[in-house]
Amino acid sequence: MSRRRQIYEGKAKILYEGPEPGTIIQYFKDDATAFNAQKKGTINGKGVINNRISEHVFTRLSTIGIPTHFIRRLNMREQLVRQVEIIPLEVVVRNVVAGSLAKRVGLPEGEPLPHTLIEYYLKSDELNDPMVAEEHIACFNWATHEEMQDIAAMAIRVNDFMCGMFSAIDIRLVDFKLEFGRIYDGDYSRVILADEISPDNCRLWDFTTGEKLDKDRFRRDMGGEEEAYQEVARRLGLLQDDGSPGEVLDMSAHRTRLRNSPTKPKK
Ligand code: UDP
Repeated sequence: MSRRRQIYEGKAKILYEGPEPGTIIQYFKDDATAFNAQKKGTINGKGVINNRISEHVFTRLSTIGIPTHFIRRLNMREQLVRQVEIIPLEVVVRNVVAGSLAKRVGLPEGEPLPHTLIEYYLKSDELNDPMVAEEHIACFNWATHEEMQDIAAMAIRVNDFMCGMFSAIDIRLVDFKLEFGRIYDGDYSRVILADEISPDNCRLWDFTTGEKLDKDRFRRDMGGEEEAYQEVARRLGLLQDDGSPGEVLDMSAHRTRLRNSPTKPKK
């Protein structure tokens, strides 16, 4: 078997050439980094869990009409995705003051925001991902005005959906980061959601206890990061209580069961 070609190795993922043109394989590593890779470590099993959580979230987002790069999960650590031209922005959506926002505006973490905030950061390790304004994005042509309108609209819809999804399992969605990419169809391009959505790039707090269930446990040397990631997967129904992989909430399987069920609900 020929060795597949590695396209890129990032902090938490490796990208390989996919089986067909226009596809890519995302391999999820256990490596964890923080503070622009100044802090490095591993979270055992993180790659497996993030692959499942991201599959789950992207699949559910596509059911509400958000276009995403996700095609299908291939195995425990890999998923097949559409190749995109990454827009060099990190789109951060915030519902509650935390992290860099708490530092920038001098407010305590945990203060709910009166309305959802969207912030943009330039993806640049050399520059330490500086925050940028929409004027900079237009001025330096990182994305067009129309693309920014699509990105902001999608970010708000993703936030609304994920707030509901997480609050149903007693988790407060504090903030998260999204990345978008372009796909081309002849002369036209459109923007779709790319990268991953997992506890690596969301702040998730238990609603009742306030316990952190995300990468802040690693960033802040709190310990218990493996258990926290597992807890999110378990509450989403992706792991059994014993930690073994559970049935993914596969709606097509669910529909087949309903169709074949003798007690099929009448329309
Ligand atoms: N985030 C991310 N990658 C980054 C920076 C931030 O995934 O390079 C996520 C982070 O997990 C959090 C949100 O974006 O959910 C907001 O992060 P913040 O700006 O507060 O930065 P941090 O405190 O993580 O440095």
